[in-house]
Amino acid sequence: MKIVLVSPEVAPFAKTGGLADVSGALPVALNNFGKAHKCTVIMPYYKLVQKNGFKPKLVRTERIPLGNNQFNAEIFFGRYENTDVYFIGNDQFYARDQLYGTPGGDYPDNHLRFAFFAKAVVSVIDYLGGADIVHCNDWQSALVIFYLKLLEKEHRIKTLFTIHNMAYQGLFDPSLAQSIDIPPEYFSMDTLEFYGKLSFMKAGILYADAVSTVSKGYAKEILTPEFGCGLDGLLRSRLSSLYGILNGADYNEWNPKIDKYIAKNFDEHNLDGKTECKKDLLKAFGLKYDAKKPVLGLVTRLAEQKGIDLIAERIEQMLDLGTYFILLGTGSEKYNNLFSELAKKHHGSVGVRIGFDNSLAHKIEAGSDMFLMPSRYEPCGLNQMYSLKYGTVPLVRATGGLDDTIEDFNPANNKGNGFKFVEASAEAFYTTLERAVNLYKDKKKWLALQKNGLKCDFSWNKSAGDYVELFEKILFR
Ligand code: ADP
Repeated sequence: MKIVLVSPEVAPFAKTGGLADVSGALPVALNNFGKAHKCTVIMPYYKLVQKNGFKPKLVRTERIPLGNNQFNAEIFFGRYENTDVYFIGNDQFYARDQLYGTPGGDYPDNHLRFAFFAKAVVSVIDYLGGADIVHCNDWQSALVIFYLKLLEKEHRIKTLFTIHNMAYQGLFDPSLAQSIDIPPEYFSMDTLEFYGKLSFMKAGILYADAVSTVSKGYAKEILTPEFGCGLDGLLRSRLSSLYGILNGADYNEWNPKIDKYIAKNFDEHNLDGKTECKKDLLKAFGLKYDAKKPVLGLVTRLAEQKGIDLIAERIEQMLDLGTYFILLGTGSEKYNNLFSELAKKHHGSVGVRIGFDNSLAHKIEAGSDMFLMPSRYEPCGLNQMYSLKYGTVPLVRATGGLDDTIEDFNPANNKGNGFKFVEASAEAFYTTLERAVNLYKDKKKWLALQKNGLKCDFSWNKSAGDYVELFEKILFR
């Protein structure tokens, strides 16, 4: 199969969250399947790509018509591991510091930035001589599916639309439709209208040959009003073409045995190096090492979704249990300020870094004793899987992919790989944390729990196989 994966962010080139990890690792896994499949990646050429040290080669320049305008698309080519990547360049749209917006809000021309991207992707697919499957990820690439349909290419090129988060839908004022070549007949309840707005995500859900999301649990949840973000009805109408495939963890990148960012490497047979990593992590935050005190780590976008308000609400009690709390994250100004203040107030026990820092994220995975993910909803979640690999015990809320991957530890029979709570309340979070901190004092039990996690295998092999199966289903049904 000739597969083209389209994504607005791909690790290691540009990343804001889990979507980049998936868009980077899945093509490599597909290309590892041997000669049977070739997966090529297409993404925007952000300033960040160069900043991250990549200098792809300019291979083509095109004029892309959009509304009453024409824009230059510079097509760059690069490779990573076993995978070809095409970057769509246009300085007006992508030579900015961030991918989608600033802490103050989204860039106001995101409709143009990603409509242009989608049109340029269709043109690159032509340049590549077509494709069997175009796999589009999130609203930023949904219009690829729409433009393929307008050009009546949908019979020759099959499409999969993967939703990584229902809450980000790409909603715009309908008056902008003409500027991105969306004809007026596509603005109705049965087409791209969503409560008076123009919805990019609807284009993906309506017109893709199949729709998927990133865990079986979330695939069920989004059919309900609570998690469907207003699109649950539409998703129910596509039930026979809706799939849930769990993301994999990239163990070439997230593996304490070979991790180049951590103080000392270790593996499942010998966790000694983890103590060095804990010391190193505490030092990075100016905190004094105390072996008895567990480090509670967290790396996250600072957004409502992640349940971080539950932590903020109970921070004093958490610290009274005799813990350190370390957070790396960035997001809305409200949370950036709140957690910076908490760090000042509780210096000596709390370390907070506001920003995006991949190397520090690795240090937190390696040096923490527990990793907190009290998410209100979580389509898949990757950090809980990474944590397991580092002998770091995840404490999660039972939702979406977190519920699918983490089993609550039962000290009676030593089964389970983490701690899990159900109700999205500060009380439920705190009582579970209390349980975890108590178990931490029992070194034997704790090691048994860590070992259960270390045995888990969430590598991409299985998930990539599931994608291949789905692509075949789409092509041959
Ligand atoms: P989401 O995609 O909702 O942000 P995931 O758990 O699926 O959440 O993926 C988050 C990914 O982004 C992980 O690889 C995590 O380490 C990384 N990440 C999130 N915030 C930061 C940050 N501030 N600095 C470095 N890495 C981050």
